[in-house]
Amino acid sequence: MQIKREHGGVVFVDLRDRTGIVQLVFNEQYSAKCFRMVTELKQEYVISAFGEVRRRENPNPELQTGNFEVWVDEYTVLNGAKTPPIGVTKQSGVSEELRLKYRYLDLRRAKMRENILMRHKIVNSIRGYLNEMGYIDIETPFLTKSTPEGARDFLVPSRLNPARFYALPQSPQIFKQLLMVAGFEKYYQIVRCFRDEDLRADRQPEFTQIDIEASFIEEEDIYRLIDGMFTKVLGDCYGISLETPVKRLSYDTAMECYGTDRPDLRYEMEIRDLFSFQTLNPKEFICEGFEKGKRLYGLLVDKTEGVTRKTLDSFTDFAKKRGADLFTWMRCVKGEESGPMMKLFGSGIKEEVRKEGKSDFTLLAAFGVKQAVLPAMGWIRQEMARILGLTQKDNLSFCWITDFPLFEWSEEENKIVSVHHPFTSPKEKDIEVFEKDPFLAKSKSYDFVLNGIELGGGSIRIHRNDVQKRVFSVLGIEDDEIRKKFGFLLEALQYGAPPHGGIAFGLDRIVMMLQKEESIRDVIPFPKTAKGTCPLTGAPDAVNISQLSELGIHLDEVTGE
Ligand code: ASP
Repeated sequence: MQIKREHGGVVFVDLRDRTGIVQLVFNEQYSAKCFRMVTELKQEYVISAFGEVRRRENPNPELQTGNFEVWVDEYTVLNGAKTPPIGVTKQSGVSEELRLKYRYLDLRRAKMRENILMRHKIVNSIRGYLNEMGYIDIETPFLTKSTPEGARDFLVPSRLNPARFYALPQSPQIFKQLLMVAGFEKYYQIVRCFRDEDLRADRQPEFTQIDIEASFIEEEDIYRLIDGMFTKVLGDCYGISLETPVKRLSYDTAMECYGTDRPDLRYEMEIRDLFSFQTLNPKEFICEGFEKGKRLYGLLVDKTEGVTRKTLDSFTDFAKKRGADLFTWMRCVKGEESGPMMKLFGSGIKEEVRKEGKSDFTLLAAFGVKQAVLPAMGWIRQEMARILGLTQKDNLSFCWITDFPLFEWSEEENKIVSVHHPFTSPKEKDIEVFEKDPFLAKSKSYDFVLNGIELGGGSIRIHRNDVQKRVFSVLGIEDDEIRKKFGFLLEALQYGAPPHGGIAFGLDRIVMMLQKEESIRDVIPFPKTAKGTCPLTGAPDAVNISQLSELGIHLDEVTGE
């Protein structure tokens, strides 16, 4: 029972089940006994009721059952309920900690219930589609060996093998490739993966992946398969039709035009290369910068209001933090230009911007090395879109980002790393030569992006043992380590491995985006907090010393309660 309203000789009760709400009527004239007893009903009591379904005198158009009500002849209380510590209809000011502690109550809220039911519908639709396309659902182990996806592993000690540990899979990557070697040709799994990362709003230590792999395919086959999958999901679950083929942008184009490999294409606002401004007699340090290969990139915004001094100052700080030499701007209001950018360039700048034929605009620009300026402008582009209200959640703008570099330099690890993972195939043209200049090599890889969020990614894999070994070697993995960590994969590649490739999506992110939620925690039934804890069960928890000694584990210092 959700709510009780009393009106003289009538009591109305909102009765809730997973499909929604129906109004019960306890009418003194109709059933004096039920009317008398109804005072005992309290919020969240579990009841069964029997009565006559009648058309409502005052229909409620907001309720699916708003035209009807049930006049109760008889009812039974199946169980009582304590007063819930958090609201199950509305919530305000409730901390997430408390929501997660009483998650079973939080999940009673209509929006949460809708999210979880929609998650089921989305999964069903995906399964249906993949089954129809001939993909088979195959399970892979959870207690396994490390899979390199760039995160820390969760380790599980093995009691039967002292001092040995399983790693929980960061993804089923190697197993799905082995399934291709085994000849299954088309695999999928909707599967939990585990990554021990510092958590952000859109990360969880365990999350669900839609994992796909197929043999004898190329990038084009994946694009078609996935365009079809999203067409099906959006049609089945939201009645929306997706325009296909989904737009494709190469990594280089995405970086050049949007300053990111996850562009939000709900709005245009492309970043512009203002290389031609070098002829506008700029200040000496800019001239010198241009000569050294530095670049000026700009963003032309059709508006002047809303771009406050404070915003511009924050852009300056951000661009500098990101390594740009300079952030500057100019504005044109009713054909009158002003702003610091005017002083950095000669008078010709007026002519140059007037070519655009716009009488009101703001031009934002950053100068410096391309690798610093483009990402900074990418972030500024996003911020501007937010300020200008161009990021409505109802607009869904999908795109593919293709042809990523094979390797990149990781400042954090101070070494060369794979942009996707080490099993990603180089492009045909680079396959025999990627060692020459590894950073120039491109890969057969792709990401699928929605409104600036990466929903998934994958690649065509290396299916030749020799190429795989060479990639490991560029990554600086010693032969001994290769043998220990990936020997079994390299061996498998020698037994007739077909060309293959695949992709994986974060299911939680997909549901979050389609349900227009801010956090993946709102689409996961029992998520962890930002600290990786579960306030409901108290996990992670301390364990008995005897359990630890069985595992041969000794704690130097026991902290916590
Ligand atoms: N295994 C990759 C990941 O989890 C996806 C893929 O390449 O299929 O990100």
